[in-house]
Amino acid sequence: MKKSEFFDFITSVPKAEIHLHSEAVVSTKTIGTLYKKHFNKEMTKQELDNLFVFSNLTEFVQAFITLQKLFNTPEDFELLFDDIENYLKENNIVYSELFFSPSSFIRKGFVFDEMIAVFDKCINAIKKRSGIEIKILVDVSRTFGLENAMANLNYILANGSKNIVGIGLGGDEVHNPAEIYEPVFTKAKEAGLHVVAHAGEDVGPESVWNTLSALKAERIGHGITSIQDEKLMQELAAKKIPLEICVTSNVFTKKLVTKAKEHPVKKFFEKNIVVTVNTDDPAFFNTSLVNEYWILHKELGFSMDEIKTLILNGFNAAFCSKQKKSAYKKAVEEAWLKKTAE
Ligand SMILES: [Zn+2]
Repeated sequence: MKKSEFFDFITSVPKAEIHLHSEAVVSTKTIGTLYKKHFNKEMTKQELDNLFVFSNLTEFVQAFITLQKLFNTPEDFELLFDDIENYLKENNIVYSELFFSPSSFIRKGFVFDEMIAVFDKCINAIKKRSGIEIKILVDVSRTFGLENAMANLNYILANGSKNIVGIGLGGDEVHNPAEIYEPVFTKAKEAGLHVVAHAGEDVGPESVWNTLSALKAERIGHGITSIQDEKLMQELAAKKIPLEICVTSNVFTKKLVTKAKEHPVKKFFEKNIVVTVNTDDPAFFNTSLVNEYWILHKELGFSMDEIKTLILNGFNAAFCSKQKKSAYKKAVEEAWLKKTAE
């Protein structure tokens, strides 16, 4: 199938995206607006280009923090949600779980409840306007230690927004092993929150094992170094722990792969691991969800039938009710049939 045909086909099918960092959906227009508000001058092309230059995960995290610094008030997030709505619509993503990392904002004086109030307002408006469902996974963060992560969890529990469905663990995987955060994850689970964690992105399979045993994560963000451990792959398949795969992101951060073709996603799929497809940070990596599916089809040999399975996996792995999953999956089958009959 030609690229344009594929894009047309896959865009017509409703999809879920469950590993997407909210700030990383920002448009260059919003960056320009925030920059002007922040520094009271126009951003130069050079400054914009510099923001998106990074050659490994550490530099990427730095770029992410630079972007976060442009947000000065919780209201600034409204611009971000306009970008998120556009992104979701363009890709026909009808259900999304967005990571939000409050730590750096709280450290510069933002109030958690005020930020979530803006999120709730925007999420509810998008639902009303476009029918698109957005849920939040709060990244309690592994960069600032246990106390900070526990404080984030306590903010979530005190806030009680229905749009927050769980917690995640992102940030520096190398210096902050998962087990440090066990008390936070245990408490979150007891409170009825879902729990996911990035693991096996920057550290070997032992990080995924720790995440499964200490944090009881229901899904693994990336998990790509699992390819180095046959037993771990068997465990992921047997326990049906989905991997949130983000091919372009992994190519950019160069930990395990430097080309899409080298990515282990097809091997995971063949070993019956539940694979889901995501972008991670579309603005930083200049990609989109439809483009990620294209890469899987073109570079990694996923047939169209397998692409459909991946799309259905996105809904199966989502934290929404069984009834909603069934309705979404029915819509996928219908759209697929319609497109195939053309
Ligand atoms: Zn991520």
